[in-house]
Order: sequence, then structure tokens, then C-alpha cells
Amino acid sequence: MRNLKLSLTAAVLGSTAMMSPAFADGHLTIVDEPLELTIHMHWPRSQGYQEDYPVELAAREMTGIHLIDQTAGANSTDSGEAMNLLLAQGNLPDIVGGHLIRQPVNEYGPQGAFLPLNDLIAEHAPNIQAYFDDHPEVFNSMQAYDGNIYYIPYLPDGLFGRAWFIRQDWLDALGLEQPQNVDELYETLVAFRDQDPNGNGVADEVPFFSRAWEEAIRLVTLWGARTSGSDTYHDFYVNADGMVTHGYSEVAYRDGLSNVANWYAEGLIDAEIFTRGSSSREFLLSENLGGVTHDWFASTSGYNAALADEIPGFNFIPFLPPEDINGVRFEEHRRIPVKPDGWAISFSNEHPIETIRYFDFWFTEEGRLMSNFGVEGDTWNMIDGEPVFTDEVLDSDRAVNSQMYEVGAQIQRGYWQDYRYEWQWTAEAAREGIELYMANDLLLPIFLGVAFTEDEQAVYDRYWPSIRTYMLERQQAWVLGTGDVVEDWDDYAETLDDMGLQDVLGVMNQAYARQYGG
Ligand code: CA
Repeated sequence: MRNLKLSLTAAVLGSTAMMSPAFADGHLTIVDEPLELTIHMHWPRSQGYQEDYPVELAAREMTGIHLIDQTAGANSTDSGEAMNLLLAQGNLPDIVGGHLIRQPVNEYGPQGAFLPLNDLIAEHAPNIQAYFDDHPEVFNSMQAYDGNIYYIPYLPDGLFGRAWFIRQDWLDALGLEQPQNVDELYETLVAFRDQDPNGNGVADEVPFFSRAWEEAIRLVTLWGARTSGSDTYHDFYVNADGMVTHGYSEVAYRDGLSNVANWYAEGLIDAEIFTRGSSSREFLLSENLGGVTHDWFASTSGYNAALADEIPGFNFIPFLPPEDINGVRFEEHRRIPVKPDGWAISFSNEHPIETIRYFDFWFTEEGRLMSNFGVEGDTWNMIDGEPVFTDEVLDSDRAVNSQMYEVGAQIQRGYWQDYRYEWQWTAEAAREGIELYMANDLLLPIFLGVAFTEDEQAVYDRYWPSIRTYMLERQQAWVLGTGDVVEDWDDYAETLDDMGLQDVLGVMNQAYARQYGG
């Protein structure tokens, strides 16, 4: 069947190998004569839109719309800078897309720079409308302060991101069980420190480590504290009373951080946690030194295969979050359902209906498959009703996501990710871990952010950056043993208020209530 389909495609369509029979009836056609729309597309992996992406060429065949690259700031990797440059030059392309566009489009959309999309979607984009009907919380989170939405976002799929991982072979060597609560985790880390689980006769083990020092701070969740309500570190969160607050201003954080500082002083947390950086996972695992971490399911699970030959018995697997001091088991990190990335329609676009229909194309079955997996018959095939990457893609030395970026799939257009894309290259140990996490109801409500009015934005900009800097400076000092968080707490809390924390929380909650009807 696969071969038949491919040979049919080749025979009928000749050199335009991008095409597939799925759209031969033209039901995805938006315009009969080709229509060119210019686009700004700036994001970390590419500072521009490549007009020869196989996905773009196939989308042209299917829809009649041709995207023409007109990206500003292509010589900088900073998408914010590129956006500022674009807005300053004033001559906006038809479509403005890429990384972190939410804040600028929600700020300048109500001022007239971008078209409100609500009516366009309702009248011309049935697939996008269906998504929003099923996900009203996402729609609410995207609204600008005037109640309109100004962009179609990149919508990630899947629930869990990070998980707790432990050297199961070290537990086995020491005759220990997986730690089920904060006290057992403490005892496990002490055993890793003192009992030479790597068996080299040297006390060289690093019990808890992380690529991101913020994950050491996140250990405060074991004492019921919070560090973030989203997939961004140090973010605000919505508490049990439905109020937006910040974890670093709360007493549970004081007590949690006091314990984290003790763990650090006792050598249970990597002494170089703040400086070792992004290579620490690679280094500490391949040197047979690291015991426990909190990191992404898919990439962390890859080390078992990678290190099987070098470290006999190496078995680094996900385990359930230990219960906190209140007996609650939760995973603070999760994937966010909506990103601040995607694309918007500029005020000068003379084809808004064709453009929103084009945006909607990426939410059709064919468009969604192509935005996730590339061109059918090229990078993937439909097998028993499932999109399956070719062996060439799966067996490549290069990561699947990097291969997708090059063909124009998984790029930061407005699209709905399909988790099947990632599941196919997630190692078996991680798949089991994800199923374990799914079965245990570990997720907390997510904070999807707010859109400020100009006045609220001014309050936030005046106070928040310096408060955040102060919070992080004190946090690191306390962990490193400069000062004592419990003794210093009253001064710290008073300073936060002096710096304007209550004003910031005031505008956050005002905006939150307006946006989510709280
Ligand atoms: Ca050792």
C-alpha cells in the first residue's frame, strides 16, 4: 500500500514529488490563482522563513497561498530585537510570526497594528474555531485587554515535561527502595553520598544534580512551596483561593529553602549547581557520578542506551515525585498548552480572509499532519491509520526535531502539535515513566499569564524586574550559606513590599479577573 501510493504519486505528478493524493480533489484550495503573502518569521532555530521548505512547497500546491520571506532582524538571534526592528520600520509584512509575539501583538493589536481575529475565525476558520470551542481556557489566556485575540499560537501537545530520575542500579547495589517521600529521599541522597554506590572506593558521588540550577530551588516543593505556575521558572501561580501570587513571598518557601540550604551544606546537592551549567547531565552521568535529577522525560531517558557499554548496569529511570511534608505527591512542571509563539495578521494585509483561511489550513487534518511530520511519503507514511516517521528519519544520528525544522515542520507558525511526533522517538523507559505519571494525577492547575492594560503594564514594568532580581539574589545567597532564610525572612518580606510587590500582585489579579472571570 505504501509503495503503491508512492509510485502513484510519482507517476501522476512527475517531478512535483511534494504532492500527495490526499489533496488531489482540491478541497484545501483557498485561491485558484497563486496568492503571495509576505511573512516575518523569527525564532531561535531560524531567523527567516525558507521559501523552499518542502512543507511550504506542498502547502503552496494544496492551498494556492505562497509565503514570501520578509523577516526583519535576520542577523540577530534575539526575536524581541527583531520584532522591535520590524515595528520601528513600520512596513509590516502580511503575516508577523515567530517567537514571543504574544506580548507585542497584544500590546500593539488594540492600537491598530494587527487585526483582531475573533470574527475572522468565527466566519472563516472552522478548524481553529473547533479547537477553541474545545479549549476555552486557551482562548481566554490569549485575549488582549480589549477582549480580542491577535494571534494564532503554537499549541504544544502532551502533558508532562520533566520527571524525577534516579540511578535504579545504585538503589539496587545499596539494597534500597525508591524513595516515596521527602524523608526517604533525604536518606537516599545521604546513602548515595556515603555508601559508594558507583563502587570506586571514593566518595565522589553527586547525589542531586541538574542542568538547571532552578531545579535545585524547585526542591522546595517537597515542603509544599511553589516556584512557578507555568513552564517558565520563577513565574507567578494561582493559589488554592484562586488568587495570583508568587511562591517566593510565601512562608512555605522560607521553610523549604531553609531545608534546601541544609541539603546543599551537607553535600546532597551538587556543590557546583549554580555554575556547572547545561553540560552537567552529560558529564555527571557519563562519569558515573550523578544520582538523582529532575529533567525532561524523552532526552533524559536516552542515557540508558548511550551509556550501556561504558557503565555496566547503568539504569537511570523515572520515579514518582516523592510525597511532600503534607503527604501530597505532585509534579510542578508540565508542558504549557499554549505558547506565546505563532503568527498574526498585520493591519496592512489586503487579504485577511484568505490569510485566516490559510491559518485554518494548518488546523485541518492534512495541514496538522504536515506541520508536525513534514510531507507525507517523504519523512513519514500513514501506516494503519497512524503517521509513522520513515526509518531514515528515526535512525538518523540527528534529533528528529532538528530534522523537522529543516523541512519546515515543527516551526513556530500557528499550529497544533501532535504528541505522536515525539512519542515515536521516546525511549521505552520514558514511555513507562510517562504512563506512571499519567496514572497518578500529579499535575497542578496551570497559570497561562495575563494581558495588561497600558496602566497595568506600567506598574509591572516599574516594579517587577527589580523585585525578581532581588528574590533571585537572596535565594542563591541563602542556598550558598550567606545569611539564613529563617532569620532574614521578616526583613526580606518587608523589602519585597517596599519594592512594590503588593502593587504588582494588585495589577496581576486585576488583569487575571478580567481575563478569566475570576
Ligand atoms: Ca564512589
